[in-house]
Amino acid sequence: MSHIRESDRFETRAIHAGQEANPENGAIMTPVYFTSTYKQDAPAKPRGGYEYSRTSNPTRTALQENLAALEGGLFGLCFSSGLAATNALLDRLVPGDHVVAGNDLYGGTYRIFKRVFERYGIRFTFVDTTEPAQVERALEAATKYVYIETPSNPLLRLTDVAAIATITKRAKKLLVVDNTFATPYLQQPLALGADIVLHSLTKYLGGHSDVVGGALILNDASLRDELAFFQNAVGGTPGPMDCFLVLRGTKTLGVRMDRHGANALAIARYLEKHPLVDRVIYPGLESHAQHGLAKRQMKNFGGMVSFEMKGGVAAGNAVASNTRLFTLAESLGGVESLIETPPSMTHASIPAETRRAAGLADGLVRLSVGIEHVDDLVADLGQALDKARTASPAGAAR
Ligand SMILES: *Cc1c(COP(=O)(O)O)cnc(C)c1O
Repeated sequence: MSHIRESDRFETRAIHAGQEANPENGAIMTPVYFTSTYKQDAPAKPRGGYEYSRTSNPTRTALQENLAALEGGLFGLCFSSGLAATNALLDRLVPGDHVVAGNDLYGGTYRIFKRVFERYGIRFTFVDTTEPAQVERALEAATKYVYIETPSNPLLRLTDVAAIATITKRAKKLLVVDNTFATPYLQQPLALGADIVLHSLTKYLGGHSDVVGGALILNDASLRDELAFFQNAVGGTPGPMDCFLVLRGTKTLGVRMDRHGANALAIARYLEKHPLVDRVIYPGLESHAQHGLAKRQMKNFGGMVSFEMKGGVAAGNAVASNTRLFTLAESLGGVESLIETPPSMTHASIPAETRRAAGLADGLVRLSVGIEHVDDLVADLGQALDKARTASPAGAAR
C-alpha cells in the first residue's frame, strides 16, 4: 500500500513515490538490494515475484514506480543506459518495419538506428518533426513508431507533442518521446498524448553525473509486458546501486530544474548580446522560433543552451577549451556546468554534410548549465570568449 495520494504534486511524488519506509525496521531509504537471486517458498513459488535480478530487483522496482509516478504513467521499465532503453524498443520490430524519427536526435540514437538496426532490415525515415505535416507524410503502413525528441539535441528545436499525437493516434502508430532534456518536471508527454516516454537517466534524473541509466514509461499493459520481455531477454538492466543513485537524484529534480532554468536564461541573455556570438538557441528567449510553443508545452525552459560562434569550428573549440568552471565534457544534466562542441564531439558520428543539412553550424557550442552561482558562470564564459577572440582574430572580424 502506497502512502501517496493521487492529488500529491510533482515535488511530493518525487520524494515519496515507490518509496515506502521499511515495514520491519522503519528505514526511510530504499535499500540497495545487492542480490542476484532470491530464496523461493516452494519450487516455482518466488516471494513477491522476485526470482532473479536481471528480471526484477526491489531497488529497481522502487525506481520504476517512482519514474512512472513522475511521468504520470502506469508502468516504468529501467535499463542500464538510455540507449539500452532505445534498444528494447527496437527489439520489438522485425525486418521491414519502419520508424519515422526526428532529424535532430541525440547522436547515439541516430547511430543505433543507422548502424545497428538498419542492418537488421528496420527502416528509418528522418524528418523535421517541428513540422507535423512532414511526420504525417512520412508514415507508411509498416511504420511502428514516430520517435521524437523535444527539445532536441543540440539545436533545442521543439516538437509539438500534442499535434504529433493527434496524427499518430489517427494513424494508429506509437508515439515515442525522448523526454531527457525536458524531464517530467518541465513536460509530461503522456498527458499530451504520447504512448511511450524514454529517458536517459544519466542526465537530469540522475542529476549528479555519477550514473548511467535509461527508462521507458508507458500506460499500455500489454506493451509493457512485451517490452519487459525484451528487458529481461536481452538483459540490459541496471544494477541496484545505479537505481539507488537515480532515486536519490529524482528527489531533488524540481529544485534543481528551477535553478538550471534560471541560470540558463541569464546566460542565454548574456550570450545574445556578445559580439562574437552569431546566434543563441534557448527556448526561453523571445528570439527562439518556437518560444510560444515552449511556453505552452513546458513549465520552464530547462538547462541546455546552444550558441553559434562566429568563426566556425576553430572559434567554438577555442571557447570550449578556455572555460574554468564549465568543464569540457560530453553529457549533460548534472549539477555542474559542462561545455562541448557537437560537431567535434557528441555529433561527430553524423557525417558533416548530414549535420549541416540538419542546421548544425560548424561553430556550434552546447552548454549544460549547472546550478553554480550564475554570476560565476557568466564571468567564466566572458573570459573564455575573450580568449577565443585573441585565439581566432578571423572569427572576431567576421
Ligand atoms: C544521453 C542521451 C541518450 C542516451 O542515453 P545514455 O544513457 O547515454 O545511453 C538518449 N537521448 C538523449 C536526449 C540523451 O541526451
